[in-house]
Amino acid sequence: MDIPRVTCTFIPPWLLERIGAADALALDEQLRVRRTARAAGPRTTAARAVDVPAWTVHDADNATKLPGRPVRTAGQPAIGDVTVDEAADGIEATLLMFAEAFARDSYDGAGAPVSITVHYGKDYDNAFWDGAQLVFGDGDRTVFERFTSSSDVLAHEFGHAVTEHTAALAYRDQSGALNESISDVFAACFKQRLAGETATEGDWLIGEGIFVAGINARALRDMAAPGTAYDDPTLGSDPQVGHMDDYIRTTDDNGGVHLNSGIPNRAFQLAATAIGGTSLEGAGQIWYAALTSGTLTPTADFAAFAAVTVAAAGEHVDAVTSAWQQVGVTADATTPAPGPVESGGERVVRVRRSGGFAGRTEEGVVSLDAADDGVRAIVERIDLDAAAAGAAAYRQMPDMYLYTFQVADGDPVTLPEQALSGDLHELAELVLRRDR
Ligand SMILES: [Zn+2]
Repeated sequence: MDIPRVTCTFIPPWLLERIGAADALALDEQLRVRRTARAAGPRTTAARAVDVPAWTVHDADNATKLPGRPVRTAGQPAIGDVTVDEAADGIEATLLMFAEAFARDSYDGAGAPVSITVHYGKDYDNAFWDGAQLVFGDGDRTVFERFTSSSDVLAHEFGHAVTEHTAALAYRDQSGALNESISDVFAACFKQRLAGETATEGDWLIGEGIFVAGINARALRDMAAPGTAYDDPTLGSDPQVGHMDDYIRTTDDNGGVHLNSGIPNRAFQLAATAIGGTSLEGAGQIWYAALTSGTLTPTADFAAFAAVTVAAAGEHVDAVTSAWQQVGVTADATTPAPGPVESGGERVVRVRRSGGFAGRTEEGVVSLDAADDGVRAIVERIDLDAAAAGAAAYRQMPDMYLYTFQVADGDPVTLPEQALSGDLHELAELVLRRDR
């Protein structure tokens, strides 16, 4: 496609090297249709009948129709597709961990069959739980490897399903960061269990191995030292924080859920290593008890969650109390209000994409005066206020993308991935696309 060049500024510079947003954006329509279809009927969780396999891995064949073609189910041997077989091994081990460590039968506690899709989309740089299944992209192979290559990613996404069916923490601000952190907690426990490591022996890295060779990254996140997992000219540097003093106020990423999750992540790591033994047997049991206590509200903040873990800590109450204190979470901690989105009053259209498993934010800015007719025509057609009103029907799902549009000095409008119209889709593609 030959698109006339436009004035296009990507911020920060490493975004120039990123895969174009086109491929990820092409998925939105499918997701939107699917979400609408699901919303039409009552939400149910089917209990697994005896003849239904515990899990099924599907192949989307690099298209975006979910769930795709079933290619392997529980009890069947490896098929030779490394991605399918990694997903199969990952879900087997994840279900076993939850059964053995928490006496939990699948994510709903009632044996729900687990649906997984791999080879989703083309060069798709993400993995997510959409409320019905786990979905994995192959990565662009420029920055990201396939998202099944680090099995803790699967445990992380499964953890979102567990949270949805237990404390149902809202995916925004501190409750959203807790939602994220709990998935990382399960992922770390999972990784250490597979390696036979104690909490002290574990490396506390999440998403180790999802970057291609040559990217200066140990992993995507470091629970022991948030903000140190990567620092690379292409990728930028790890933006996570690990203390309330550094809490990030933002409207991106649903209020920085992948950034501020470093704070409760570090609290868990401190508690687990102080308690000793394995993370699963020690702090893992306390965190799981808190998650399933029935005493958390969906909008629980860090302090509320900390209080429930302290209450569940038993003989380890001092270790858990100290862990939260070390990251600055105290009883009177509150969610700082998001800062204003800056607006220079310029004649520009600005698009930001944030969230996703990696929790990274990309921004594109196109001058309306210098823009090609395509961009200007879309800007004249779209009604951001109507889109914002319509978006209320969509629930933000863990690790799915979030888009913010701003035209000239109008108010920024933020929409979940499933809520983009065809025009907004195209506009985002034009503004975020790689400068070719
Ligand atoms: Zn997540």
